Amino acid sequence: QEASNMSLVERCNIRALLKPLHKFAHKGTQGHGLLIGGSLGKIGSVCLASRAALRSGCGLVTAFVPGCGTSVLQTAFPEAMVIEDRNGTHITSIGYTIRPDAVGIGVGMGLLPETQEAFYRFIQQNRAPMVIDADGLNILSKNREWLSLLPPDTILTPHPKELSRLIGEWREDYEKIEKTIAFAKKYRLIVVLKGAYTLIVTPEHLYVNRTGTPALATAGSGDVLTGIITGLLAQGYSPLEAAQSGVFLHGLTADLTAAEIHPRSFIASDIIDNLGRAYFEIE
Ligand code: AMP
Ligand code: MG
Repeated sequence: QEASNMSLVERCNIRALLKPLHKFAHKGTQGHGLLIGGSLGKIGSVCLASRAALRSGCGLVTAFVPGCGTSVLQTAFPEAMVIEDRNGTHITSIGYTIRPDAVGIGVGMGLLPETQEAFYRFIQQNRAPMVIDADGLNILSKNREWLSLLPPDTILTPHPKELSRLIGEWREDYEKIEKTIAFAKKYRLIVVLKGAYTLIVTPEHLYVNRTGTPALATAGSGDVLTGIITGLLAQGYSPLEAAQSGVFLHGLTADLTAAEIHPRSFIASDIIDNLGRAYFEIE
């Protein structure tokens, strides 16, 4: 009965769901992604995620960062707009007047009480489709009652350690998957369980992605995935479509590029810079 609810993420499915680029497209029609994260010493995470979002094809990207992140972002990633928290080193209150089409929150954000409070207030008021990663997940682990505040189809992207903080330990893979399905059902979430084979777990179905290489076992590769999925969500793909195509494209980019750069030397920025190769490969 499990098996009937399981399928592979296939290239032909991703190809079929990609929207054509319209002749009269302009940046205002291509979606606006907002990436929220960073703290002193971890601004790189939100920089990677923001750049990856724009490379995925959305029209506009804004990064929301603590004060120390502004000049970093504007220098390393001039295409981005930046909104600054009132605090210099950590996110303490998330406020803005823009209307993003999707939000990715959590990378490099830290776990200060003020940051947890800002996260809480944000998830209560945000109505844009949302991806939660990294410290966003760790904050939810420390405050599990907040999980029921998340709108249905919110995407969570844990690596196994982050997942275990959310759902507890498991003995073997079968139990891990069972518990993840129960968790996705309980809160009506989409869980992207990252690993050599990334699983996309919805309340109804389990998808297995096979793209990707051990070259991805490097700092920041998860932040890039968060950015790609946020960028796809901003372009109007459904949460399930964005999760599936984001995971597939992220892994395929690494497959196509790691051999040239050398898998040992491959870094997260290489995924961002070569994302177009994966688009060429499937379109
Ligand atoms: P994070 O741990 O948050 O930086 O995320 C790591 C990213 O790299 C996830 O998308 C993983 O699926 C991917 N990744 C890490 N190790 C491997 C591997 N051995 N094979 C394929 N993908 C991997
Ligand atoms: Mg990560």
